[in-house]
Amino acid sequence: MKITLNELPFKKESLGKLFSKEALDFHHDKHHAAYVNNLNGMIKGTDFEKMSLEGIIKKAEGYMSQNAAQVYNHDFFWKCISEEDGNEPGEKLRKELRKYFGSYDTFIDKFSQAALTLFGSGWVWLAMNKDDSLEILQLPNSGTPITLDKKPLLCIDVWEHSYYIDYRNDRAKYIEAFMQAVDWEFVSSNL
Ligand code: MN
Repeated sequence: MKITLNELPFKKESLGKLFSKEALDFHHDKHHAAYVNNLNGMIKGTDFEKMSLEGIIKKAEGYMSQNAAQVYNHDFFWKCISEEDGNEPGEKLRKELRKYFGSYDTFIDKFSQAALTLFGSGWVWLAMNKDDSLEILQLPNSGTPITLDKKPLLCIDVWEHSYYIDYRNDRAKYIEAFMQAVDWEFVSSNL
């Protein structure tokens, strides 16, 4: 089965406050697409061709697993973004965030800080453990909760390719804009 480059779940022109169309042309059509193409090139003619993306992430090693994780992570990342801003989490998620981080505002601070201080490239996640507890994961490179058997709820891509066109070197400004654009309905749906 060929791994597909999923369409963005929003119009490229609609995210003005977070990403420009140019940034998305590169991030989705070049970077995300490259991970898909690399992966398809590697799984061709192997048993991995019969596996799901998550199966490949778990079973493969090294470069193949890393490319599969990057495909998964980007698919998930795009879904975390809403075309409308000013979204806030509903009561159920708020309660969970209070329980594990003190408050919604404290969670935003901790998640933002984790995204800011991840040295080099990587991903920051809100994930759920087997005992239903929530935790912030600061994972370098192609890190993904899938290999840790944790359930992803939210992620931010802090690879430089995610913000360099619109924010240049200002990762903090990018993180702030991202937190304003989170699709909390999607995050809640992962609980
Ligand atoms: Mn990326």
